[in-house]
Amino acid sequence: LLDRGWPEAWTRTTCSYCGVGCEMDVGTRAGRIVTVRPSREGPSNQGHLCSKGRYAFDFVTAPDRVTVPLLREAGGWRRASWDEALGFIARRLRSLRDAHGPDAVGMLGSARATNEENYLAQKLARVVLGTNNVDCCARVCHAPSAAGLKQMLGTGASTNSFEDVDHARTLLVAGSNTTECHPVVGARIKQAVLRGAKLIVIDSRRTELARYADVHLQPRAGTDVPLLNALAHVVVAEGLCDEDFLRERVDALEDFRAFIHGWTPEHAARLCGVDADALRHAARLYATHGPSMMVHGLGMTEHVQGTETVMALVNLALLTGNLGGPGMGVNPMRGQNNVQGSAHMGCEPGQLTGYVPLEQHRARFEAAWGAPLPSTPGLDLTRMMEAARGGRLHALWAIGYDVLLTNPDANTTREALERLELLVVQDLFLNETARALGHVFLPACTSFEKDGTFMNGERRVQRVRASLPPTGDCLADWEILCRAARALGHPEGFAFQSPEEVWDEVRRVWPAGAGLSYARLEHGGLQWPCPDERHPGTRVLHTGAFALGPRAALRRVGYAPSPEAPTEAFPFVLMTGRRLYAFNAGTMTSRTPNARLQPGDWLDMAAADAERLGLEDGARVRVRSRYGEAVLPMRRAEGLRPGELFTTFHTVEVFINAVTGPHQDGYTHTPDYKVTAVRVERAE
Ligand code: SF4
Repeated sequence: LLDRGWPEAWTRTTCSYCGVGCEMDVGTRAGRIVTVRPSREGPSNQGHLCSKGRYAFDFVTAPDRVTVPLLREAGGWRRASWDEALGFIARRLRSLRDAHGPDAVGMLGSARATNEENYLAQKLARVVLGTNNVDCCARVCHAPSAAGLKQMLGTGASTNSFEDVDHARTLLVAGSNTTECHPVVGARIKQAVLRGAKLIVIDSRRTELARYADVHLQPRAGTDVPLLNALAHVVVAEGLCDEDFLRERVDALEDFRAFIHGWTPEHAARLCGVDADALRHAARLYATHGPSMMVHGLGMTEHVQGTETVMALVNLALLTGNLGGPGMGVNPMRGQNNVQGSAHMGCEPGQLTGYVPLEQHRARFEAAWGAPLPSTPGLDLTRMMEAARGGRLHALWAIGYDVLLTNPDANTTREALERLELLVVQDLFLNETARALGHVFLPACTSFEKDGTFMNGERRVQRVRASLPPTGDCLADWEILCRAARALGHPEGFAFQSPEEVWDEVRRVWPAGAGLSYARLEHGGLQWPCPDERHPGTRVLHTGAFALGPRAALRRVGYAPSPEAPTEAFPFVLMTGRRLYAFNAGTMTSRTPNARLQPGDWLDMAAADAERLGLEDGARVRVRSRYGEAVLPMRRAEGLRPGELFTTFHTVEVFINAVTGPHQDGYTHTPDYKVTAVRVERAE
């Protein structure tokens, strides 16, 4: 503030980083952000912010911000007007569609964009381009949570709310490094523990929360299913089930009993490398010291069995009656500010707005939009990459998404993107996808420069409010999409004058969101379901009955070991994730002072392994898998099992996704970022 001066104006908005959705006040002076302070009224943050929301805003004025549309020409970029850029895209899309059919085109919505913008992205894909090839980055993170929860309970979202952390007597944190990736909720969990709540942590690393835990179960990477099955075994074998809940609300108990019988703690302990008695202790705590609340992260979902792992979590909650009340539930920690919203608005090939199956709701949407919906099922991101490599997808439009840097098996992703005849990137900066392979770049506004709504990880829809005018010629994503629809000769259904008009259309096609008017979102937002303007919103789902009906069924979840078991040639297992000061591909945080606190990616290695390989702290090492390699500095880290490694995907300089592999969750095609067999050697 000494340098920047005291703010002349304050604007209340929602953080654009993680899915906690902290509310904050942005202080501006002379068209520039000078500071950010937390909102005391923010329902999910109550006066707190982490180092990202509080300090990482200078990317807005970064010198390399792209502020005009760009067209690739003769190997370089040249400036273009909006009319020229959108006219070029329209002509190319039309000719590719004419030559190869509408499914030659794909669209990626964005967790960085608002609900309104994601709604328009999928509407444009379906109504204007004529394809269901539309997806978003939920594909690479929590699609398994949405699929597992939807299949078993009827709603693909957190069952409870962040405030339930304060009501739980036991917290089970599974595969979530909450204090680094969702710091405000992480702090809330620590506060709950200091007040006496019990804490169980399931994590292959000894995270900060694990230090506070009553039990830390540290399974080998990729063995969560055996571990969760063993917990269920103990609950059933020791008679710790909630019998009333089972009688009234749960089916398939006998079948499940027969299945779970063989999953003894001793059996699981051998597979997972955990202590059988620690497993028993955790199961007893969770089952008998309720209400018990689960919080889970990508450590559970980014696996070949991601969806089934979430189902195994739901089994535990059903057995013990920890659903449908305060301080309970199964709660995915959504990684990005609006990843819940982007999928919920319909940026998924098989789901329409409200996360409803396309085929069941086709007629309703065709009537609302006055246009037929495409008849082919559509491809998700993973399948789009395969189609591009196979010459069946010819154009991709990626909004706020660095596909090349963040998809696994980057060499294969690059091959796929290289074959595209049109790659449109819509973002704040020339991200790696645009820099290396883009044909058109459309400069978008940051969330500080536009209005709209985000949906956080507890189903809360919150307002985003502009505190700055657009930079240069940048446009908000919703304006770009409306102008693109007009350029494509389809102005009908895209003549919106404001995000609020878009949102009012969303409310008309999404019955469970009908009560979420902008006026009602004014103070802290509301949680869906909220079907009318008198409804107070819903803090806890599945009270009395599940969204799919009065009863839910337990599921047999068998174990399929990872195809990336360590071998003599690749003796280590690499896990990837995030750290506190950086966010995902670093598009925003790398252009803020946070970059000084997180100067690049490094490899965490157990001290015993470092010693065996003769590596000193800071040594540059080459990490090599069957798919590619990366070079980065190594640091000895406490809390890793020997044989397991951890690093982050925050920088293009390291490009760790050149190393990660092609394996996917069988239900959702979500990549396995958590188990890649690698070898490590000193880099020359
Ligand atoms: Fe933003 Fe998440 Fe930090 Fe809150 S916890 S300030 S939403 S990054």
